[in-house]
Amino acid sequence: MSEDIKNTEKGGISVEIEHIFPIIKKWLYSEKEIFLREIVSNACDAVTKLKRLTSLGEAQIEDDKYKITVTIDKAARTLTVSDNGIGMTEDEVRRYICQIALSGALEFIEKYEGTDNKDAAADGIIGHFGLGFYSAFMVSDTVDVITRSYTSENAVKWVCSEAGEYEITTDYFRAERGTDVVMHIMADESEFLEEYRIREMLDKYCSFMPVEIYLDVVKPEEDKADEKSEDKAPEEPKPVNDVSPLWQKNPSDCTDEEYDEFYHKVFRDYREPLFHIHLNADYPLNFRGILYFPRLAHEYDNLEGQVKLYYNQVFVADNIKEVIPEFLLMLKGVLDCPELPLNVSRSYLQNSGYVAKISAHIVKKVADKLCSMYNLERENYEKLWEDLKTFVEYGCLRDRKFYDRVKSAVIYATTDGKYVTLDEYLEKAKEKHEKTVYYAADVTAQAQYISMFAAEGIEVVVLDKMIDTQFINIVEQENEGVKFVRIDADVAGALKAEGNAEANEKLTEIFKEVSGNSELKVSFELLKNEKIPAILNISEETRRMEDMMKMYRRAGSDMGDMKFPTDTSLVVNANSTLIKRLANEAENDTEKTKKLAKQIYTLALLAQRQLNADELQTFLSDSFDMLENI
Ligand code: ADP
Repeated sequence: MSEDIKNTEKGGISVEIEHIFPIIKKWLYSEKEIFLREIVSNACDAVTKLKRLTSLGEAQIEDDKYKITVTIDKAARTLTVSDNGIGMTEDEVRRYICQIALSGALEFIEKYEGTDNKDAAADGIIGHFGLGFYSAFMVSDTVDVITRSYTSENAVKWVCSEAGEYEITTDYFRAERGTDVVMHIMADESEFLEEYRIREMLDKYCSFMPVEIYLDVVKPEEDKADEKSEDKAPEEPKPVNDVSPLWQKNPSDCTDEEYDEFYHKVFRDYREPLFHIHLNADYPLNFRGILYFPRLAHEYDNLEGQVKLYYNQVFVADNIKEVIPEFLLMLKGVLDCPELPLNVSRSYLQNSGYVAKISAHIVKKVADKLCSMYNLERENYEKLWEDLKTFVEYGCLRDRKFYDRVKSAVIYATTDGKYVTLDEYLEKAKEKHEKTVYYAADVTAQAQYISMFAAEGIEVVVLDKMIDTQFINIVEQENEGVKFVRIDADVAGALKAEGNAEANEKLTEIFKEVSGNSELKVSFELLKNEKIPAILNISEETRRMEDMMKMYRRAGSDMGDMKFPTDTSLVVNANSTLIKRLANEAENDTEKTKKLAKQIYTLALLAQRQLNADELQTFLSDSFDMLENI
């Protein structure tokens, strides 16, 4: 570039500048690297403005190959962002670069003087005052702006030192319209001259900016010589960004492959997402985005998702907890909200009515998607259910509105591998038992109970996760009369035979004694299955309380020694051949009866839960004794 200087004027920005520059350096953004986003997005804006003028007929542009080039020149220690956008006239440089920004800075100082500026900076608040351009000074000693307006005016060069002293040269030479922002990188910020670092920053902040961005690394002289000798054909430069990201497209124009590919690329997760939701909210919300359900392998899998917030395709922040309701934070996706300011603060997000509406809209869309999958592709939905279940239940626990929206799409796995809704279950059950949902918490340990229910044609659902206990509380609250009862909680009417069983006092005493629990409740019933001598029941309520306690303890709460008495009862089957024999023999051979009763009790225990070490030891040695006597 030839220095065709015709008219140079020196100037100094008024006294206040001394207050401003130190603040910019320290507090403008909590993360220095944001400067690149600010400078590149200004370049994008410059192109967008010119495009708009062209479409309005106010500018005639023949060559419309708009682009931005980021150039690293290590030898010169410069990082340059060039665009062929609207450019600035001398007057505009004075107005936009010198004045407007500074008045913004003063406003900032006035507002935050005396308060803890650190907080304001951490929030990125200063960005609201139109200081984006000045962020270049966080990493530069000097910044040059060489710009030529799309109008016929001559180019201008503006050079500003870190002390805020600037020099304007008018009638400068720049071959084409557009702007170069040349940042002379400070000695201790050399990382911003490293290609990998700049690539990483462009990738983070600029991946979806709407103008093609190229990265150019100026090679040192010796490398240039090497290249010539190798005689390689120069590679076609590729932009580092995708100017029309998928979320900007019409959902009907996007294929499943495109959604998956976008997911892999953006989140570097090579697993397939379960499904996606393309958000396209018109006025007044006016935002777009794509949300993905990642595959969750386990209940306690890392539920941390990643939702990236964009402002007109410019990256703003990751994991915006304020926009996405907490229970949806396992989602991965992108949201583009042009209604939010680019430098949006956490406190702004927390208090914004607009953000609350976005959040509500997202909850609705997620629920709608689940319902539509349930309605339109139930088979596929059932396959995904194990992955979705924990999330849906958790969502229902956190947000009753969400429960209301998805309740018809909540399904339950049955012990025979089918899936039913609550309504379907109750409809089928209506002749055998009303409004009771029988469930198993452990299909292996509770196999005997399951087979008793199966024999009577009663469907049993599987609720084997900790969260299920909490979830069924909600379902019970929301569905009058519906009760979830674990299969070992009481004897379902359908399992009983006709007639009333007579209690046998002698046997009752013996069972209490051999169980080692004088408080044990012993009842006599006539069960249809004659093979089973006795079963143990634990009251649903006390067991749920215990489950809760266990959960709190696991979560680290100190519950002291608080203990709920386990409300266990032994149901003795008066219909069983073994019990009938026992009842007859009880009077004559008490010792033998006790041995048998002990064994029957332990078998009932075994059908209900795992034995502890002592119990197992005694059970084995008693069994060996018995075998010897056969
Ligand atoms: P903001 O972008 O929020 O207005 P900045 O401090 O980043 O604040 O920029 C101030 C102004 O300088 C912009 O509004 C724009 O008019 C002008 N400007 C900055 N960079 C460029 C550019 N590359 N091309 C044209 N004008 C620019």
